[in-house]
Amino acid sequence: MAAMTRRTALAAGSAMFASVAIARIPPGRKLGYAMVGLGSYATNQIMPQFKDCASSKLVALVSGTPEKLHRYGAQYGVPAKNRYAYADFDRIRDNPDIDIVYVTLPNSMHRAYSVRASQAGKHVMCEKPMAISSAECAEMIAAAQSAGKKLMIGYRSHFEPYNRHAIDLARRGFVGRTKIITAEHGFTAQPGQWRLDRAMSGGGSMMDIGIYSLNAARYLTGEEPVAVTAIESTDHSDPRFRSVEDRVDFILRFPSGVLANCVSSYSSGHNGYRVIGGEGWIDLEPATSYEGQKMRINKDGATHPVVLPPFNMFVAQLDHLSQCAMTGAEPIVSGEEGLRDLVLIEAIYRSMREGRTVDLARA
Ligand code: NAD
Repeated sequence: MAAMTRRTALAAGSAMFASVAIARIPPGRKLGYAMVGLGSYATNQIMPQFKDCASSKLVALVSGTPEKLHRYGAQYGVPAKNRYAYADFDRIRDNPDIDIVYVTLPNSMHRAYSVRASQAGKHVMCEKPMAISSAECAEMIAAAQSAGKKLMIGYRSHFEPYNRHAIDLARRGFVGRTKIITAEHGFTAQPGQWRLDRAMSGGGSMMDIGIYSLNAARYLTGEEPVAVTAIESTDHSDPRFRSVEDRVDFILRFPSGVLANCVSSYSSGHNGYRVIGGEGWIDLEPATSYEGQKMRINKDGATHPVVLPPFNMFVAQLDHLSQCAMTGAEPIVSGEEGLRDLVLIEAIYRSMREGRTVDLARA
């Protein structure tokens, strides 16, 4: 039974995963990315991936720090003519090397740089959260649409095989019809960073890490919630939490009746979710980390680990946007996906503030 469960699960996973690939890409063609904001995520996670991409290459850098432009420019072979200060950003319009702009700035800067990139005639990859309000997201979508360019949000878990496999299993009822989802994400926030300044971040743990619980509940069900109830727990005497929330627990109610119990925290470590169906459960912990996902399936009273072949989600994410730009296909995590999360985060904040369930049909 163990082998059967695992084989069935693996086959389903690869079928699901194949759907990310897009056929008919001009062979050998790579689109050029400009990275905007050379902080931790850009330099440690994203920039090292381009060497393994089939359809993407790193061609330009944008930073306020000349030393970073020089250092990373030399490291990645980005010529001086393709290194920009923020003040020069709009000049990317005149640079045909640049096809796509990847925005890895603090959240409050996503809107302006994404809109300006669209206006410069470039496709945009913008990090999560898409922006600090749903109104800003709508503006970004409109700018990309009027430029006739793609807009994708950096929801990398949609390209990660264990997450894709969990989506497939959950949606086709492999452990019975889904009843409950639990999703928990959190880490201990260190003081002195922009994430703790509401003007820069738009909010606390919910904007940064709780969004993974929210997005997972949505992708595991494939549904949009109809109601949300949220409760905050923040020690405002802690200097880290003067302007942003620490902990939010929220419950999403989906049209099928599924309830998702979610945690978002800046003062405790969590990274996992569980889908509980009528005949067992699917568990991922860690679920949305950069690597090391661990999956277990419980069915017919027995629990089995699932092991999938290694796969680079960062490369898949970068190439997906390049391939969408080349073929005209819509990214699987478009601006609309980012907007939906922001609308829900605003509802979570409203529920938290007003101490009541927010009916999303009427929100
Ligand atoms: P970071 O602080 O390490 O980098 C931010 C960069 O923006 C820095 O290079 C900084 O110099 C630059 N910057 C420009 N103007 C600034 C200003 N006025 N104030 C502060 N910084 C300014 O942050 P990060 O962890 O790299 O996060 C950047 C974005 O990427 C955020 O939106 C974050 O949510 C997202 N992110 C996504 C993931 C993921 O897994 N998808 C992981 C980490 C971060």
